[in-house]
Amino acid sequence: MVKREVLISQLDAWLQPKLIKDYCPNGLQVEGTGDVGKIVCGVTACEALLDAAIGRQADMVLVHHGYFWKGESAVIQGMKKRRLGKLLRHDISLVAYHLPLDIHVEYGNNAQLAKVLGLSVDGQVAAGGTDGLLWYGQLPKPMQQDELRRYLFDRLARDPLIINGSMPAMESKPWRTIAWCTGGAQGFIDDAADLGVDLYLSGEVSEQTVHSARELGISYIAAGHHATERYGIQALGNAVAAEFPLDVSFVDIDNPA
Ligand SMILES: [Zn+2]
Repeated sequence: MVKREVLISQLDAWLQPKLIKDYCPNGLQVEGTGDVGKIVCGVTACEALLDAAIGRQADMVLVHHGYFWKGESAVIQGMKKRRLGKLLRHDISLVAYHLPLDIHVEYGNNAQLAKVLGLSVDGQVAAGGTDGLLWYGQLPKPMQQDELRRYLFDRLARDPLIINGSMPAMESKPWRTIAWCTGGAQGFIDDAADLGVDLYLSGEVSEQTVHSARELGISYIAAGHHATERYGIQALGNAVAAEFPLDVSFVDIDNPA
């Protein structure tokens, strides 16, 4: 057993949430039992993840997407009541790291996605007011559209949406350089285009992303919000398990978005 405060202060020491302006609280979101023996990790603290945690008699749920987002209603009813009720009835803590987990150079979603996809990292720049949120580098080898589609499917188990932003005359030229930001970061396509890379990869797509890709001459890949953010929380869970004598498991709740 490890004291909850000890665990959270170690997580905060790694992820430094106080240095980052975010639109949800980072760290402890819901207080549960003071002694932690078992942790369940997941991408999002949805009800199915809570049910899995209850089934495993976990003391803490550690996620990337927690609760209490800026702008949401503060009223506790319906879905929110059910989720909070399950945590409180079972004395389970909810601990969440959002942007701090996206940007972390080792455990972060962008760092871990680079590992999964074999991307070499050339640097990180600020995007949306957060330092180090947008990453850039190279594909493991130059690839054409069809080859890259298969490559991504093999590694992420999800068919990506690819918008080819190349001029027709350039269509036979394979892609080599890439920028990426996991999750719902399609709005950073302009920042990616400023980097002069061939491709920008994020999780989701908006209607306007397609026009930006075509008009900025940068190709865009929507590889899945969940699919691109499965890896940071697993790396963080592994780091916790290496540091403390705790039972830490990852539960993947399928999500096609
Ligand atoms: Zn996300």
